[in-house]
Amino acid sequence: MKITIIYDNTVFRDGLKSDWGFSALIEFNNRKILFDTGGNGAILLENMRKLNINPKSIDTIFISHNHFDHVGGLSEFLNKNNDVKLYAPSTFRGVKNVRELEYIVAAKEISENIYTTGELDRIEQSLIIKTEKGLIIIVGCAHPEIEQILNVAKRYGEPYALIGGFHGFNKLQILTELCFLTPTHCSENTEKIKSLYPEKYISGGAGKVIEFE
Ligand SMILES: [Zn+2]
Ligand SMILES: [Zn+2]
Repeated sequence: MKITIIYDNTVFRDGLKSDWGFSALIEFNNRKILFDTGGNGAILLENMRKLNINPKSIDTIFISHNHFDHVGGLSEFLNKNNDVKLYAPSTFRGVKNVRELEYIVAAKEISENIYTTGELDRIEQSLIIKTEKGLIIIVGCAHPEIEQILNVAKRYGEPYALIGGFHGFNKLQILTELCFLTPTHCSENTEKIKSLYPEKYISGGAGKVIEFE
């Protein structure tokens, strides 16, 4: 299981562009899932090129929620490759140029060991990957609140890692139950999380690669 952050508010690897938004590539079980698409298609595709990620190699797109900084790059990506299955929250309408589209409302397994929390609070879904270590949970902005996201994820196993935007999140004690934390994108309390959980904290940023066995 490998996660490559393609688009982020900050840069981890020199040469990539930072911009407000989030996108990551998740490689797992021979699937290549693009999680969100950042705010700007040109920056998304340029960072992908610099990371040697071929848009045509991607088979699945998972959209967390309909905010510009997560969906802004989608149409330009689909111009490069629309031979994908797209999982969109039910409140995100209007995508046409795609091979297969599934609107998500409730939590479910979308592929072997790959789950969605469902569209929580009618705004956002999170992606859950079940590994030997536990659940790797990828969030866009975590608008439905991390506590609720973790509670839904627990139907499928023990949460291990939480990666993505921790928007407006300040119940930092909840994070004790996790083993791996990458608050990035819109996360506000990154420094506090780092000082509270130094052994669990891994920084994000465009170009960051995270691998789990
Ligand atoms: Zn966001
Ligand atoms: Zn958002």
